[in-house]
Amino acid sequence: MLFKPKSTPIYLARIIFLQNSQRNLSTKSSHYSRKNIDDDDKDQKTRDTKEDQQDHLYLYKSKGQHLLTNTRILDAIVRRSNIRPTDTVLEIGPGTGNLTVKLLEAAKKVVAIEIDKRMVDILHKRVSEKGLQDRIHVICKDAMKAEFPQFDLVVANIPYGISSPLVAKLVYGGNPFRSATLLLQKEFARRLLAKPGDSEFNRLAVNVKLVADVEFVMDVSKREFLPCPKVDSSVVIIRPKAEVPDVNLDEWWAFTRTCFSKKNKTLGATFKQKKKVIELLRLAKTTSTNRENTIIGKNHECGDDYDGSHEEEDTDGDVGFASSCSVVEMTLFKENIVGILKTGGFEDKRPSKLSNEELLHLLSLFNQAGIYFHDHVNPKDSDNVSFAAAYSS
Ligand code: SAH
Repeated sequence: MLFKPKSTPIYLARIIFLQNSQRNLSTKSSHYSRKNIDDDDKDQKTRDTKEDQQDHLYLYKSKGQHLLTNTRILDAIVRRSNIRPTDTVLEIGPGTGNLTVKLLEAAKKVVAIEIDKRMVDILHKRVSEKGLQDRIHVICKDAMKAEFPQFDLVVANIPYGISSPLVAKLVYGGNPFRSATLLLQKEFARRLLAKPGDSEFNRLAVNVKLVADVEFVMDVSKREFLPCPKVDSSVVIIRPKAEVPDVNLDEWWAFTRTCFSKKNKTLGATFKQKKKVIELLRLAKTTSTNRENTIIGKNHECGDDYDGSHEEEDTDGDVGFASSCSVVEMTLFKENIVGILKTGGFEDKRPSKLSNEELLHLLSLFNQAGIYFHDHVNPKDSDNVSFAAAYSS
């Protein structure tokens, strides 16, 4: 079978020329011949040989390799990030270092996480040539698997493929930071900025808004990237909120997942689904049993299951559970759910029109009635189980 590589050959001379266009530098592109092999890509070896011979660099669409080459925009991103000379800046996906060198000029230190070893090599060389190597720490890893060190700010033109989990990792990851200035796909940025009632408003916006504020900075045309992607981009600044509502985040994610499972359906329609009723009844029973056991000092392990939030459960269990419940019990439970929705005036509301305050109020009404939410997550599946749970759909 003929293999058509999903990558674009970009001549290094052109990249470096654009990178240094301000200083009008000419480039010894041979300086950047490729030596490392990316183990992940089977066809990489062939390309490396080609790259050595022809002195160009393949950029992978699969890795979101679109380099931002406009110095004016790079400067604007750095300026809007309000970097202090004492700051450590985290950059995800530095690529060939267009933004990195500018960050190094403004910050005390840059920690750059880059998945592609070829990029890491180029970055090291470029930074060393400028004598800035002592202030950079490059981690050659998948940013979604890497443990983030302490940082004050994030400034990055990220690979768009990891936008959702990365934003979740930043805002829910437990690392305190001042702000994250991110270049994102325009549509994704619009969703982060959306307000209740906007057509783009969805669960992502709801979950991010719970813990952070998002500010629009500017749109960036696709023509500013090399190679030119299919989509336009926008820069936004995400600032963690000083005060976050007192809510169990695992439960919040599970709750918003249920509410937004059909974002244009009314909450009445979503919560009356038989499958949902069974799931919530099962959880209500488990939770109340666990709570009783905890209170009377028995079976502490079960009590921990709910609070620990990562109990491995299978949704198939709901089927067996359903057959063990009487019709009366299910009917009463469903009426209870509908009663709660009616009391709060939520039955005919659509989740995409509700503010976080309203959603938090609904969750508290459910909790007061002994109804809880919990995602089915296997903790062994992912290093970042909470983020995966928050954003897998
Ligand atoms: N910031 C640079 C490059 C952007 S291209 C610039 O503006 O010019 C995106 C970069 O992210 C690429 O270098 C790509 O190799 C890297 N990347 C892709 N997936 C990644 C991941 N999961 N973790 C870390 N880096 C990643």
